[in-house]
Amino acid sequence: MDDCIIIGAGPAGLTAAIYLARCHLSIRLFDSGSSRAAMIPCTRNHAGYPEGIAGKDLLHRMRAQAERYGAVREAVKVTAIEPDGDGFRVRTDHGSYPARTVLLATGVVNHRPEGLLPDVHDPALARGLLRYCPICDGYEVTDTKVGVIGTGEHGMREALFLRGYTSDVTLIAPEAGHRLDAACTRALDEAGIARIDGPCGGWAIEGDRLALDTAQGRMAFDSVYPALGSRIRSHLAIAAGALATGEGCLEVDDHQRTSVPGLFAAGDVVKGLDQISHAMGEAGVAATTIRNLLSERRPIRR
Ligand SMILES: Cc1cc2nc3c(=O)[nH]c(=O)nc-3n(C[C@H](O)[C@H](O)[C@H](O)COP(=O)(O)OP(=O)(O)OC[C@H]3O[C@@H](n4cnc5c(N)ncnc54)[C@H](O)[C@@H]3O)c2cc1C
Repeated sequence: MDDCIIIGAGPAGLTAAIYLARCHLSIRLFDSGSSRAAMIPCTRNHAGYPEGIAGKDLLHRMRAQAERYGAVREAVKVTAIEPDGDGFRVRTDHGSYPARTVLLATGVVNHRPEGLLPDVHDPALARGLLRYCPICDGYEVTDTKVGVIGTGEHGMREALFLRGYTSDVTLIAPEAGHRLDAACTRALDEAGIARIDGPCGGWAIEGDRLALDTAQGRMAFDSVYPALGSRIRSHLAIAAGALATGEGCLEVDDHQRTSVPGLFAAGDVVKGLDQISHAMGEAGVAATTIRNLLSERRPIRR
């Protein structure tokens, strides 16, 4: 039986793998290969890399660091976590495995604008014409023309946040009309944020801009931020009995313990700041708590 099975090898899962392997614990690191970090063309707010670093390069460095201590990522998709006696049985597309503890670090998946197909989406993302994380890269759009695809309170909040970087922000409804109450409308008006009705379509890279059709004609932006929410990959833990918020983010205590004893969670899958540094910090806390829990049960080194 392994001491811990970590599900997900993004920044959270890899940090936990480095910590736990360095605690002389036996771990497995299962990953289905769709880390949000791998989508980052170049992160410039992650401390320690003054020139910035591509998300794929950061993951590569972290995997190499984990492997140095014997923690190797296995390309395995987990299909269920079942509490079993004092531990768990983790079911995967490659068989099932017993573990004393489980750490879920499965992240989230951003909803993409409808009709924005990979042949435009992926090059636009790589060129910074399409962005998903204002706290990460709002600095890079300072004083440029920015479109936000969204509506309601969520769309308003994202547009207002970006207004802190540029005065040229337009909020575009993803479907037909905006759903904005009086308070949202007033806040947008006060900030000088334009509103355009959808539906959005006809996405294309035109020169150095991302262009799209709206109800008010064709528009082009230096950068477009979808503010359409995300799918939280917490279903495995919820099915095992863990509590989650209405949106599906896992609820944890100060030590990253879910409501199921022995089941921990870290990173974007937990409610909090969806950032690399936060994912790493939570994973460090989770790993240390896991180590201490296991050492209470039996000596780690005999
Ligand atoms: C375009 C973009 C730019 C960003 N820029 C920045 C930035 O500049 N700075 C910053 O701090 N943050 C940035 N972020 C956010 C950052 O990527 C995330 O906060 C970070 O990746 C979260 O790490 P994580 O380990 O929680 O999840 P992830 O990195 O998403 O990793 C989760 C892993 O779990 C695996 N997984 C999921 N389900 C299963 C399963 N059932 N079985 C096995 N494996 C599974 C996935 O395959 C994935 O590899 C950006 C995000 C995007 C999309």
